[in-house]
Amino acid sequence: MTLPSIGPAAEQWDAAVAAVRALGGAAEIQLICHVSPDGDALGSMLGFGLGLRRLGHTRVRATFPGEFRVPTPYADLPGMDLLVPEHEAFDEPDLVLVFDVASESRLGGLAARVAAAPVSVVLDHHASNTGFGTIRLVDPRAAATSVLAEQLIARLGVPLDAEIAECFYVALATDTGSFKFDATTVAVHELAARLIATGLRPGDISRRIFDTRPFGAMKLAGEVLGRAVLEPAAAGGLGLVWTYATLADLDRHEQPPYVLDTLIDPVRSVAEADVTVLVKQVAEGEWAVSLRSKGAVDVSRLAISQGGGGHRLAAGFTGFGEPSDVVDTVRRLLDDYRN
Ligand code: 5GP
Ligand code: MN
Repeated sequence: MTLPSIGPAAEQWDAAVAAVRALGGAAEIQLICHVSPDGDALGSMLGFGLGLRRLGHTRVRATFPGEFRVPTPYADLPGMDLLVPEHEAFDEPDLVLVFDVASESRLGGLAARVAAAPVSVVLDHHASNTGFGTIRLVDPRAAATSVLAEQLIARLGVPLDAEIAECFYVALATDTGSFKFDATTVAVHELAARLIATGLRPGDISRRIFDTRPFGAMKLAGEVLGRAVLEPAAAGGLGLVWTYATLADLDRHEQPPYVLDTLIDPVRSVAEADVTVLVKQVAEGEWAVSLRSKGAVDVSRLAISQGGGGHRLAAGFTGFGEPSDVVDTVRRLLDDYRN
C-alpha cells in the first residue's frame, strides 16, 4: 500500500537543505522564533541551532522579538548561549530560519529582517500560517515545529545527541500537552523514543518544565481560577468557561507573565464547557487571549477573524478593552465558527 505523501513537498525539503549547504562555516545564520516564546518555539530553534553548530557553523544567533525574557522553566535549555536579544540579531544575515511563527505579526520588529533576507526558511505547524518566507516547511499535521526541525537536521546529516534531543523533546512535550493531544500519533511516540534514547530523563525534564512553579504562581492561579465564570448556554448550549488575569494580579504576587501560560489547562478541564477563554493583560486595555475548544468550535478561524491565529482547537489573538468586552466578542462569534 502506498501511503499518501504528507508534510512539506520534497522540493521544499531539498531547497532548505541546499540553502544550508550553500553556506560556508563563517556565514551569518539568524534563527528567529515567535514573541513570548514557549517550549516549542525555543526548543525547535535552539535544537536546530545546535545542529548547525555540529555542522561547523560558527556564526549562528537565535532571537525572538520583544522583551528579552526567557521563561524560567526554559532558562537551562541546551543551546541557550546561542540566544541574543533582538537588537543583537545579525543586521544582514546570509540565511534566516523562522520557527513556530504562524504570521509575520508574531515577528514584531524582526519581520522586516525576514522579508529582506536573501533566503528565509519557515518551519511551522500552524493551520493559520500565512505563507511568508521563501522556503516553506509548514505542516499543520505536525504535532510541533520540532518535528520539522528534527527532520531538517536529519536531512542535513546531523546525528541526534542528548543536547539537541533535549531541546526537541521539550518542544514536542510542550505542544502535545505531554503527549495527550490528538496530534500524538505513532510517529510522535517514535520520535520521542529516538530522543529519549540519546540518554534523556523524561521525568526530570517534565518536572522542570511543567511541574515546577514559584509559590506565588500557585497563589495567583488560585485567584484567577476562583473568578472563572461558567456560561452553560453559550456555544449553542455546549458551554463556555472564562477567566482573566491582570498585570496587577502578577504584581501582587510578584510573578512574571509566563506563569499564566499553562493556566488555561485547569480551566479547559471543566466538564460543562466546550470552549475556554483565558484573557491575560499585556498592557492598559490590551489582552493576550487564549482560546481552546474540545471540538465544537474552530478557534483558529475565530482567532484569525480577530487578527490572531493558531490551531483548530487551540488559538489566540490580541483583544482590547475590558476582559468582558473580549469575552463578548468571542461569545458573539462562537456560532460563526462551529465545526
Ligand atoms: P496559547 O493560548 O497557548 O498562547 O496559544 C495557543 C496557540 O495559538 C499557539 O499555537 C499560538 O502560537 C497561537 N496564538 C496565540 N496567540 C496568538 C496570536 O496573537 N496570534 C497568532 N497568530 N497566533 C496566536
Ligand atoms: Mn508550536
